[in-house]
Amino acid sequence: MPKERILKGIAVSKGIARGTAFKYETKKVEVFQTPILSVYLHEETERLKKAVAKTKRELINIQKRINEETGEDFAQFLDAQIMMLDDKEIARKVKERIVKEKKNAEYIYNQVISDYAEKLSQSKDQYFQERVADIWDVGMRVLRNLLGLTHSSIIDIPVGSVVIAHDISPSESALMNPENILGVAAEAGGRTSHTAITTRALEIPAVLGIKNLMSKVKNGESVIIDGDRGILIRHPSSGRINYYKTAKKKEKKLAEALTPYCELPPKTRDGRHIDISANIEFFSEYTHALKYGAEGIGLFRTEFLYLTRRGNPTEEEQYRVYNALAQRMKPHAVIIRTFDLGGDKIFSEYHEANPFLGWRAIRVCLDDPEFFNIQLRAILRASVNKNVKIMFPMISTYEEIRRINLILRKVKQKLASEKTAFNKDIQVGIMVETPSAALVSRHLAQEVDFFSIGSNDLTQYTLGVDRGNEKISKLFDHFHPAVINLIKQVTDAGHHAHIWVGLCGELAADPLAIPLLIGLGLDELSMNPASIPPAKMILRTLTIPDCEKIAQGALDFRTALEVKRFLRREIHKKFPDIEGVL
Ligand code: PEP
Ligand code: MG
Repeated sequence: MPKERILKGIAVSKGIARGTAFKYETKKVEVFQTPILSVYLHEETERLKKAVAKTKRELINIQKRINEETGEDFAQFLDAQIMMLDDKEIARKVKERIVKEKKNAEYIYNQVISDYAEKLSQSKDQYFQERVADIWDVGMRVLRNLLGLTHSSIIDIPVGSVVIAHDISPSESALMNPENILGVAAEAGGRTSHTAITTRALEIPAVLGIKNLMSKVKNGESVIIDGDRGILIRHPSSGRINYYKTAKKKEKKLAEALTPYCELPPKTRDGRHIDISANIEFFSEYTHALKYGAEGIGLFRTEFLYLTRRGNPTEEEQYRVYNALAQRMKPHAVIIRTFDLGGDKIFSEYHEANPFLGWRAIRVCLDDPEFFNIQLRAILRASVNKNVKIMFPMISTYEEIRRINLILRKVKQKLASEKTAFNKDIQVGIMVETPSAALVSRHLAQEVDFFSIGSNDLTQYTLGVDRGNEKISKLFDHFHPAVINLIKQVTDAGHHAHIWVGLCGELAADPLAIPLLIGLGLDELSMNPASIPPAKMILRTLTIPDCEKIAQGALDFRTALEVKRFLRREIHKKFPDIEGVL
């Protein structure tokens, strides 16, 4: 029996998972050239035919599953790949060359696919250029089937797996199936990286930032992920397994104790209602939001609509999703954030030295008016539902919001001239997530209906600490006095201009932060759905004067550690046995 080993990382998504390690690697398939005797040429072409048919069956099943889970046609991006498998021209070319050159099917197929991809990449048409990635995806899938290899896409991971990866891209993480994947461990990433956000959204226990994980863990070995303590255990001993069985029971008990809070209104003990809403990345998550008692969607991260398909989603596709979400959440509000592409949500071949300081979010949209207008039209059309609000990410200058408002006005005029219905009084807000926006928030407040503070980026940019870099994750702390003082400044500026101020970064999901944020005056807190019941539990035992006193105290400290110690002490006074929640 191999010895138990503990690997330390960063706890990013709560819960315990015990399962089989599945190493998720995105290495290219290696193909070798082999001569084939004439008598076996027919067999070779048949082998290829079978691999193509198998690939098609796999893709159709994946497409079906994604559509069933999301309730919408999110898996259309696979249509292009399925069509490529039916391409008669490719099939004819491969067959001809196998027979003529007397070489193995994988070698010829790989060559034909490479030529095809090369030709497409030289096309001036963006649509054809975007198909290059599809060609490679589908081509590698056929090659793996030909070679009898397992697939390395996240959508193929078998039931009962704990995913072991170096990193998982946002588009791949959006395809994770929580029914198959019990836990996630990766070498890269931190608490607010997108793998962290997605695993929390899907309620998959996860530990990131584990050094040399890929070289240490072997495929198929038994592992435990402890998403509360941030550790991965290889070859757990029987004692350890029993310990985690008990811990899982406790986890279940805590969840049961929190269940009543799903239904209770988010009111302080002295009767102040604080809006508690949910952050979602996928349409289907609205069910989690409702289950945990969210009073609306405080942040719909629409970029996942873009990242889970290839190419730009059309106005109609976007409208269908926004409209369906608005209808299912009625009468609660739905805040749709325009695309926050760039940063770590990489979407183009354009490489930057500092993507987080580069062509990201609103900067991309303002540079590509056509792309921006499509999304604005789709959101405005969905606003006939009245509960839709629109929000713009990564604002760093006053000029940006002036330009946005001008563009929005023009789009509204165009819709009106077409006699297309929309809510002309739709609320417009911005995310305050750069220090510059926070520092000029009193001017920005004159131009919008609300602010939502993005504490993830606000922390990253204020402290100069990359939110996804595990090497410096100790420095990333949203309780840093610089961050909480900026939050106070933004909240005061918003209130001075009579607009409401929310916070939708991960700080809102931290139970320690609840009294602090309420005391600072925030009107709304938006968080991952599972964090809503504990937030309500804390909220309902506090009074506004309690929170204001706590916030006042917290603003005076010199370090994040001092702030956290103080908050812990204060919360303990109210809840002597809160440890399981904190
Ligand atoms: C934030 O930055 O706090 C935020 C909520 O946006 P995202 O995490 O999508 O960047
Ligand atoms: Mg952000």
